[in-house]
Amino acid sequence: MTAVRRPFNFSAGPATLPEPVLRQVAAEMLDWGGSGMSVMEMSHRGKEFGSILERAEADLRELLAVPANFRILFMQGGGLGENSIVPLNLSRGGRVDVVVTGSWSRKSAAEARRYADVQIAADIGSGHSIPNDWQLRPDASYVHVCTNETIDGIEFHDLPRLTNGVPLVIDCSSHLLSRAIDWSRVGLAFGGAQKNIGPAGLTLVFVRDDLLGHALDICPTAFNYETVAANHSMYNTPPTFAIYVAGLVFEWVKNLDYAGKRGLAAIEQRNIDKARLLYSTLDASGFYENRVDPSCRSRMNVPFFLQDEKLNESFLAQADTAGLLQLKGHKSVGGMRASLYNAMSLEGVQALASFMQDFEARHG
Ligand code: PMP
Repeated sequence: MTAVRRPFNFSAGPATLPEPVLRQVAAEMLDWGGSGMSVMEMSHRGKEFGSILERAEADLRELLAVPANFRILFMQGGGLGENSIVPLNLSRGGRVDVVVTGSWSRKSAAEARRYADVQIAADIGSGHSIPNDWQLRPDASYVHVCTNETIDGIEFHDLPRLTNGVPLVIDCSSHLLSRAIDWSRVGLAFGGAQKNIGPAGLTLVFVRDDLLGHALDICPTAFNYETVAANHSMYNTPPTFAIYVAGLVFEWVKNLDYAGKRGLAAIEQRNIDKARLLYSTLDASGFYENRVDPSCRSRMNVPFFLQDEKLNESFLAQADTAGLLQLKGHKSVGGMRASLYNAMSLEGVQALASFMQDFEARHG
């Protein structure tokens, strides 16, 4: 096969995956490891898939340094499913505090209201920086925060430290595996796989042991964390193919070398460098604009606007022709958005930055 460079794909998710992983998946499609079966055709209870799941879980635990008192669950339902599954398991029908920093946490608050007494502890409103002053209730069952707002491009660079013993729940869908997590501050973390980790259909949940066993009676059994944990994510059929691809991505991250670093530290450094390059290109120009406060600009999702919105269509069309795909902003905010997930190379961001400068020179 001749190697043809693929376009750079800036989709917010489902998103670009590492090319070596896609090639390995293609090579193993008809026969995984001499088994005579595609991973899609295997029983989830057979020894072949058992080894795939075990390895994926061990690698993920190692990469993110997940402590022994946390369970890692491989589930279905996505981030929006977790907006129900979390309150069904953790709210005890009581109080839930939500910090609203953008569209996704606002959605989480609305969904949790179906099961619990929800209070908005702080609200970014139409602002562009994370509010400081949080009204937290000491008897809340948990506090929910979205640590990377995919649409608004707002990221927590430090996790909040809750000192009153109330567990922190983080929706980290769009930056999971892009950086280290301080588990001492977290009770539960969840995220869909389709940004940094693999195909859609797999949802990862990291839950501290003491938060298991409190589900409401109405919680579906397949979504009861305690049941899922007791059955090692095999209470029902897990998303086997997505878990297999995620496992290959974990291996890819483990083996990544960058700037003298390896594994998660390498991917995090590369993400920092990619984001710095794009934000400095935006800030140096009067033609483009990112509105997020520099203290909480997302490394993963960079929304930006052309001063002259009439040029949007031609920007997108010319970017497409230049091999820079899926840059259109979310429909609720308009403009552009470049998502720089793990599998996006520095070379891809350099290509985007040069294209933007060239477009500005021609239209500015
Ligand atoms: N939370 C965040 C932060 C997200 O980015 C998304 C998806 N873009 C979701 C939740 C919803 O995830 P899903 O579509 O997998 O339900």
